[in-house]
Amino acid sequence: MNIQQEFLTPNQYTRPQIRLRHVKAIATHYAGDPGATAQNIHDYFNGTCVRQKRYASCHYSVGLQGEIIQLIPESEWSYCTNQANGYTISIETCHPDATGKFTQASEKSLIELEASLCKKYGLNPLNGGVIRHYDVTRKCCPKYYVDHPDVWNKFKQAVADCMAGRPYILPSYGTGVSSMAAAVNPYYCDTSSLTLCPGLTYQFKTGAPITCASDSFKQARQTKNGGYYLTKFSAEKITAGVGFYINGKRVCIGVVKQPYCDTEKVQKALGQTYQFKTDFPIMSANSAIWQQEGTAKRDDKFYYTKFKAVGKGTAGFYCGSTRVSIGTVI
Ligand SMILES: [Zn+2]
Repeated sequence: MNIQQEFLTPNQYTRPQIRLRHVKAIATHYAGDPGATAQNIHDYFNGTCVRQKRYASCHYSVGLQGEIIQLIPESEWSYCTNQANGYTISIETCHPDATGKFTQASEKSLIELEASLCKKYGLNPLNGGVIRHYDVTRKCCPKYYVDHPDVWNKFKQAVADCMAGRPYILPSYGTGVSSMAAAVNPYYCDTSSLTLCPGLTYQFKTGAPITCASDSFKQARQTKNGGYYLTKFSAEKITAGVGFYINGKRVCIGVVKQPYCDTEKVQKALGQTYQFKTDFPIMSANSAIWQQEGTAKRDDKFYYTKFKAVGKGTAGFYCGSTRVSIGTVI
């Protein structure tokens, strides 16, 4: 989905710059002008409409080839959906003829655009998040979805499917579209802060490739899954804080610190156990000497990990790549 921003010049008729405080629904419209393009719609609201002193506009126009133009920022009103202007983002969609049926390209872009907006504003397309102009005023708009209520119901389902990253059906055509990446927010990042010790790795799930601003974290691997990027980093060098970025926007801060361990040296006889308190997972370098008992308990800050002395000898304990303790079994 490609959106071109061509904001209308602020003016009282088509871009009054009234603050849109709370988006409660996405309002779907048809242009009502067969053959008009997304650019025609933009130019009309930016020119003729202002000269004729008509109060009308929309946030987005979707064209016959599926092109999308944004005319008004989402933080401002458009004059498109009458009494719903104060809480809706409006979309005008082009159509080739008087039936008002959208082209496949238009319908696909419309679904992807509404899915991404629903995601952004936490709206449920199946429960009022996606509406027709008709639902507000009984105006026959968008004509094809008013004439065919079953197609409108399928449209809402398609938006919901697209939102969830599932393949969806173009409602006016019955053809399937594999959506996948369509509704993924590129700036999505599952982690906003991260603290590791050297030698530990962490995998991010993001909407677009993520990079670290320094070599404190080294990228180890990147794969794609269902439109998301899975990127593994390993902590390499101590840092008090470094940014992770997606397309130049900082989405996470990472810290690499020395691990803490409450015990430098331990000595036990065969069969005895010892519990470490650490701030990262601790591992025995030789499980034939020290064998971990069960899984570590943890609270907000620390791990509590028990090891049993199972063989005579000496072995190190590690947090990541740092040896934090040494243990002898006698
Ligand atoms: Zn309308």
